[in-house]
Amino acid sequence: MAMKNVFSTPEYRQDRLLEEWWTSCEQGNLLSALKKHLRTFVLCVYGNNHDSTKEERLANKFLFRPMEYFLCREDPEVVFEELKAKNMPSQLCGKVFKTGEPTYSCRDCANDPTCVLCIDCFQNGAHKNHRYKMNTSGGGGYCDCGDQEAWTSHPFCDIHSPNVAHQEEQNPIETLPVDLTDRASALFMATLQYIVEILIWGQCDNLPSDLQPEGELHDTYITMLFNDEVHTYDQVIKTLQRAVKNCTAQQAREFATLVDREGRAMVYGGCFASCEQCRSIIDQSTSRHNSKPLKVQVMHTVVVAHQTFCLKLMVWLQKMIEKSDGLRRLFCLLSMKPQEDGQSLMEKLLLHDTQLWKVARVLSHQLLMAGVLMDQECKKQFAIIFTKWYPYVMRDFARDDHDHDVCVASLSVQIYTVPSLHYSLLMSEFLLDTHYRPVSITSLSVQIFAVGTVARMLVTDHDLLSVILVPFLEACEEKKNVHGVLTLSKAERNPSFKRACFMLYDLKYALICKPASDEWNDKLRNNFLKGHESFLKLLKLMQGMDEVKRQTGMHLEYEPEWEGAFNLQMRVDDVIASFTEWCSTDRTVFIEAYRKTAQMLLQCRDNSQKSEQHTVCGHTVKCLKYDVLSKAVSIHLPLSRYLAGLHVYMGKFHLHFGCPELNVENLDPVKMIEPPLRAQVMIAQSQAGLWRRNGYALLNQIYFYHNVKCRQEMYDKDILMLQIGASVIDGNEFLIHLLNRYGLLVWIKPEYDVPTGQDDNVRQTIMLAEEFLNLVLIILGERFVPGLGQVTREDALKREIIHLLCISAMSNSELSKNLPDNTNLETGIEDAIHAVANFRKPSSIGAAGSGKFELKKECYKEFNPYFYHYCRTDQSQAEESQIKRKKEEKSESHTLPPPVPPRFAPQFVQIVNLLQCDVMIHILSLILQRSVAMRSRSWSETQLDRVLHLIGLALHEQKRSIQDGNIAFDFIGKALKGQPNLMKLLESLVADPKNISHDSTKDLLSWILQMFMEVRQMTSLAEARGPTEQPTTFNKEENEAAKKRKARLAAKRKEKIIAKISQMQQNFIRDNAELFESTDADTSLMHGTSEMDISESAHHESPVAVGKFKSLPCNIGITKATCILCQEEQEVSHNSRAMVLAGFVQRSTVMSQCKNKDPPDGEKSDPLFTSSDLHVGSFANSCGHTMHADCWQSFFQAILVKERRRLSRIPHSLSYNIVQLEYLCPLCESLSNTVIPLVPALHTLVSESDISDVDLSFGDWLDGLQKTVENSMKQDTSASKDDPFPFLLCSLSSITKMMADSVASNFQLLWQYVSYASGGRFSESLMEMMKKFAKDVYSFGLSVDPDDLNHRVPIMAWNTCAYTIVNLEQYLRGEGKPLFGSSPTRSVDCINALVKFAAVCGHVMPQKIIKKHCLRLLSGVLSSGLERGNDPQCILDIDLFHYLVAVTMALPSLYTEGATSNALPLNSLNNQYILKLVFTAHIVQAMLLSDRLTEHEAAVKMENDAESIALMSIYTEIRRKAGCLPPSNSDPLPWQFSKHIKDAVLPFLRCATVLYHNLTGVPIPARLQEWTEETDAFCSYLSLPTNFSELFLSQGELLEGLINRWCSSDILRARLSSATSQSLVSYPLSVNHLIHLPDDYSQLINQISSFTCPSSNGNDSQLPTMCLVCGVVVCSQSYCCQTEIKDTKVGAATEHTLRCGSGMGILLRVRECQIVLLAGTKGCFIPAPYVDSYGETDQGLRRGNPLHLCKDSYKNLQKMWFTHCIPETVAHNIESHMNLMSIHWQHL
Ligand SMILES: [Zn+2]
Ligand SMILES: [Zn+2]
Ligand SMILES: [Zn+2]
Ligand SMILES: [Zn+2]
Ligand SMILES: [Zn+2]
Ligand SMILES: [Zn+2]
Ligand SMILES: [Zn+2]
Repeated sequence: MAMKNVFSTPEYRQDRLLEEWWTSCEQGNLLSALKKHLRTFVLCVYGNNHDSTKEERLANKFLFRPMEYFLCREDPEVVFEELKAKNMPSQLCGKVFKTGEPTYSCRDCANDPTCVLCIDCFQNGAHKNHRYKMNTSGGGGYCDCGDQEAWTSHPFCDIHSPNVAHQEEQNPIETLPVDLTDRASALFMATLQYIVEILIWGQCDNLPSDLQPEGELHDTYITMLFNDEVHTYDQVIKTLQRAVKNCTAQQAREFATLVDREGRAMVYGGCFASCEQCRSIIDQSTSRHNSKPLKVQVMHTVVVAHQTFCLKLMVWLQKMIEKSDGLRRLFCLLSMKPQEDGQSLMEKLLLHDTQLWKVARVLSHQLLMAGVLMDQECKKQFAIIFTKWYPYVMRDFARDDHDHDVCVASLSVQIYTVPSLHYSLLMSEFLLDTHYRPVSITSLSVQIFAVGTVARMLVTDHDLLSVILVPFLEACEEKKNVHGVLTLSKAERNPSFKRACFMLYDLKYALICKPASDEWNDKLRNNFLKGHESFLKLLKLMQGMDEVKRQTGMHLEYEPEWEGAFNLQMRVDDVIASFTEWCSTDRTVFIEAYRKTAQMLLQCRDNSQKSEQHTVCGHTVKCLKYDVLSKAVSIHLPLSRYLAGLHVYMGKFHLHFGCPELNVENLDPVKMIEPPLRAQVMIAQSQAGLWRRNGYALLNQIYFYHNVKCRQEMYDKDILMLQIGASVIDGNEFLIHLLNRYGLLVWIKPEYDVPTGQDDNVRQTIMLAEEFLNLVLIILGERFVPGLGQVTREDALKREIIHLLCISAMSNSELSKNLPDNTNLETGIEDAIHAVANFRKPSSIGAAGSGKFELKKECYKEFNPYFYHYCRTDQSQAEESQIKRKKEEKSESHTLPPPVPPRFAPQFVQIVNLLQCDVMIHILSLILQRSVAMRSRSWSETQLDRVLHLIGLALHEQKRSIQDGNIAFDFIGKALKGQPNLMKLLESLVADPKNISHDSTKDLLSWILQMFMEVRQMTSLAEARGPTEQPTTFNKEENEAAKKRKARLAAKRKEKIIAKISQMQQNFIRDNAELFESTDADTSLMHGTSEMDISESAHHESPVAVGKFKSLPCNIGITKATCILCQEEQEVSHNSRAMVLAGFVQRSTVMSQCKNKDPPDGEKSDPLFTSSDLHVGSFANSCGHTMHADCWQSFFQAILVKERRRLSRIPHSLSYNIVQLEYLCPLCESLSNTVIPLVPALHTLVSESDISDVDLSFGDWLDGLQKTVENSMKQDTSASKDDPFPFLLCSLSSITKMMADSVASNFQLLWQYVSYASGGRFSESLMEMMKKFAKDVYSFGLSVDPDDLNHRVPIMAWNTCAYTIVNLEQYLRGEGKPLFGSSPTRSVDCINALVKFAAVCGHVMPQKIIKKHCLRLLSGVLSSGLERGNDPQCILDIDLFHYLVAVTMALPSLYTEGATSNALPLNSLNNQYILKLVFTAHIVQAMLLSDRLTEHEAAVKMENDAESIALMSIYTEIRRKAGCLPPSNSDPLPWQFSKHIKDAVLPFLRCATVLYHNLTGVPIPARLQEWTEETDAFCSYLSLPTNFSELFLSQGELLEGLINRWCSSDILRARLSSATSQSLVSYPLSVNHLIHLPDDYSQLINQISSFTCPSSNGNDSQLPTMCLVCGVVVCSQSYCCQTEIKDTKVGAATEHTLRCGSGMGILLRVRECQIVLLAGTKGCFIPAPYVDSYGETDQGLRRGNPLHLCKDSYKNLQKMWFTHCIPETVAHNIESHMNLMSIHWQHL
């Protein structure tokens, strides 16, 4: 994108320019003078520079500094300081939130949840001690600290608390010098005019004439690409690579990022023709597939330059006005001053918002926020302007293709939220976070605000409600069907209606603050009612949405749309509640609103309804004729429901239904109840199975109708409407209407029970009757609505909670999930919960897992099984757990009687009469009769249960009316009339409950009868028979018999189930025959028999593993194993079928001592000497399950075949990656990628004792080896210098020639090696498995492609063994556990198998290679081998345990003959001397590195014994040799030093013990089976001196020479001098931990909020993600930070994980409060280890409760990471959450 530098800098003199400006300013003509200057200089600054610092410098020089001087007339810095001093200390914080910054809301004091604080204000204020919520900001919005209207108490923090001195309000402009005011006015006006002119200038190739540069324009153009919501990143990137010359993928990605971030990007620059060509390619290649092409324009450089300058100018202006209150006010006034055309400049910007690209919008909004919205005065004015243009802006927005948050319409939240003027939550937050609790006013502890706030003012004076609703209704207009009802279909993907729905949010804000009754005035009433009228129109449009008709015959062909209507309903819910509340505060408004609503409802009726007459019990009623089964029914009835919502306030205003004041003609209650009744009937019919063919759409509707999210404005209100009906319609008539609509008029005739042969409908009728009784119970019993019953909101809430907790104890989040959303009630919810429940903490303190709430004992009596918010499962679960509870409490009666209901409000007392009306008594008696009858076809126990509850309710009411002295209610009287009467029927039922199967019903029956008699006595009616019969007990024997029968039935059922399950298993095995081959169905868990019998060791006094006095071996590891695939058991031997362990090998960095070093390239690295920082290693583990090698092979083949078939259809979608050879263990499903061959115990392979009588001193041994190395190196002088192996082994004879005779023979004897030739060679299958595992360890351990012949294959086998042992040692050390006996069998078995494999793997490799490795290893320590090569090293650079393993395994091959070897590392003398040598070297390491240790004071002082003093002098000597100066601080005391050295080398000794134990099979002494920090026990097992000084003293010149050589290495000296950059480790190596996390989660959020995307200079990062291993934060899952690795795009987290964890990652997404685990290309999410006070995690940060670190969980994460369990955790998670598969983890 090179552009010629065609603009030369014109002549410039600031003083002359300023003179000119000041003059024209006085003449009122600054704008043209300014433009004259800009005409030249804008192009010169912004026209040709790509160097942004240069651009900035020029801009300051030519553009901004002159303007500042113009304004100030002297040094601007000085003037601005003076102005600043005059500012009143702001009492408003107003800090604008960046994306991701923490925000706090006080649940006790905030007026609504949009009131938030920044972290500084929060921490310096009172609210931190209150109940608060935290959240992360989505960007935008600002801190409300200091706004008295936002908080009910503590509005100020300590920083912003009001200064008493500044009491009186002064116009800040008056504080400015007059002349400065004049100049500022002129400058602000001119710049603003210029900005508006440029931003709304529509042309691309020229400018307004007064800005157009003189002369011909150069032919320099720019192709400008704009963003849209249609095209994806990838599409844009591809298109750009095609359209722009020489555009690399990286550049294209940068452009795409820029377009996304700023809204446009210059993608190409050049002459017009080439720009145009670029444009047309982009246009063409994106306009295919009918989609809108990408917007792209060719613009002249001069236009772009001015636009760029405009943006900078806006930023500059913002800076100016922030300097002084006076300048801010001045700016606001000017920007809102109407121009000649009547519009102010602000208005112009507002109206052109949608024409601007993103960054221009953002900047103009920021200017608005910093200027207008921060000034209380101006905000009101702006709000008025905004309201004026609202419909226009919203219409424009609906057509626009930008996100809501970059649109000026998003400012409405700042303006409309009440009570304060400015609110912080941008609407984008509402959008992104669906869980955000919608604002509702329901329980505002009503604040009365002195002055009308903006929203109120706007409603009153500017008709805000209509302003919002009218354009919304317009948007609805297009969606109306022929009946005038909204139809929202999914098929239309037109987003404009969705966008229009934002207006509903605005409506919600506008209504948040409801006026108190004395705040109403006529103007407010008028305008409110005007808005109300529009609102009713909306409800009318919604009334009857998505009508359904019962489908008969065929099933529905496709599911009808239903979601749209529910979404709209949910958005309108809050608005409905707000309108209701507003109406409830003023009588006049209420009456008018009620009348209007009723009239509107009347308009909805279809008047063609016919009626019919029905007579029941002598009552004749004219009913509406409507068949729900054949005609359309809708579940959407917002208008009816709104009326019901209003109705409950009638009592408050002393009104009643039909009173003249309301004066609604034709309002017939029968018609009012009709729509909700139809909905109830439809649902009942659906329950009865009559609507089956209507499919899921209907079921979903019914589900949501009852769901906690919707029911408040749906189901609950329908019940309320029916209750209203019951309160104004005569009881008999009401019931007849219900029966008629349910189609049950036949059922209540006694003759219905006589069989007629048509049994088909009876079942359905029974169910409908049950539903009918249920509805009647609900109408009578559900009184917990304020206004309906004499209850408060709190009572209602408590009741909800009680009924939830009757189901089971629940955690806090379960409870709140099941309670209606209501943010303002939230603290109320908490109080209510604590009022009725006790919190039981999680079982152990600090343990992971959440605590639960349990209902308080005294609340159980409130339990009502017919609670109307119970679904069927809830109901039966609740009943079950209540009966169980009663049984556990051993209470006498298990009855769950109906609870005493609260009283109805006076308006509604009439409902109670339903219980005593003739029809009701008839129904009760009918069902009781059918219960008693020998046979009844229409009876069901459910009906009886409901009838009993009804009677119970009636008895409660009877009792209450007796107590009240109310004789009008006479249920008992009516119940005792008739033949047989209810009491008689009850008695006979109790006497003979043959039809009743449930104990609970029997219990209830007894309870009812007793209560009946009790109440009857109270009524003191005559003929009381007295309680002679005690009906509570049933015949016990009969009961027992019934129980036995039941038990028998249950047993039979169980048998059947078991049979079925085993059948299923059989089928499964048959279907998966290839996997099971000859497997029996019995697949019980079989462990490989591990016989690491440590008890045996007790026989040996103190076993020794190496050297002359080596103890006898025992069998350890797996000797006999069962194949999990074929179930055959087999001995592990070297010459039969091979056995293998399922295993997983991975590259690992968990023990790295240098976290910010890049891992070496596996292709190039030389792993022979492992670096001492353990930077990267190869780790193997196993689930411990054994298989035959061939069984495993056929199992794996089967998977391969299956996978190949599947892969062709769906790519990558399994928890394991077959390309990486991954599979799941067939028994336990652990992730595996290889198999570890099982080699029998090594000592069983040799026939006789391996120690031939060799008598060789350490010195002679060392001499022999050193001679070997030196001669071998000498011999190969011909090799070139680059040869990594400049060795050619000299023969043994040539070495022995150089020795004394006796020594020579013994040395020779040493190599007459132990081999297992006596027992024959390894079996083919074992060899094959050994080769396979060696290959896998090599390729996974180095993450390179497999290569059988690579010389590094055996090295990786040794290293994997060493690394795995070190990891186990470190883990156990970190946990403070002993080495033996504390780790699980599977890891013991795995290490044993690895050691034995390492010992024999040389047998399948070419001997030449092993010998070379051995020579190199020896030369490293015995000669100058380390210093050779490109990367010279010294003794401090290598890890000596890895070295020990390698040299132990390689040494036996040194002098073997032939191409292959079968030597085993069992020569005790060799092993002893190697160990001694390496350990000595390790002590030297530890000593040289010891002064880096900080001394820790030991609590107990010890004596300086001789050994300590000797060691100390060795230390001094070694340091002298290494050329170290004495340490600056005084030397440690000898005993301290001695202790330190022992600590330092202990891990090495522990690892060596594990190694030789597994190699030789010598049992572990008892002392080592417990935790010990003493080195002695290890030393004696390893046949090392317990006094380390012995290793140095009198060991001969040779060793001394070696130590000298190590210490005098130049490299070592360089390492030790502080100047070196390479960091050194210190011993003991520290055990790595995940980073420290703060206790308080908000600290973490705050910490991360300052993080910006590293690749888009200082922009916010959407998903900052913190590596828990090293603490680095990356910008994850974003195009801006993608990189390419091996031709695949990877996100920043993956990229980091590759470097930091070599593919295994554990990262924290701070804003989402969740952990990402990454394992190669797979991953999963788990909750972060933070919990709230209820012990619950908050994945996604949805609840916002304060969170604190849960130490246990974090420890578990630490363990998972350190023991390499991330891949396995990921695989398990993917198995159980299939949706995780669709995520492209490598893009994270
Ligand atoms: Zn603040
Ligand atoms: Zn503050
Ligand atoms: Zn508070
Ligand atoms: Zn097998
Ligand atoms: Zn397994
Ligand atoms: Zn980024
Ligand atoms: Zn890291």
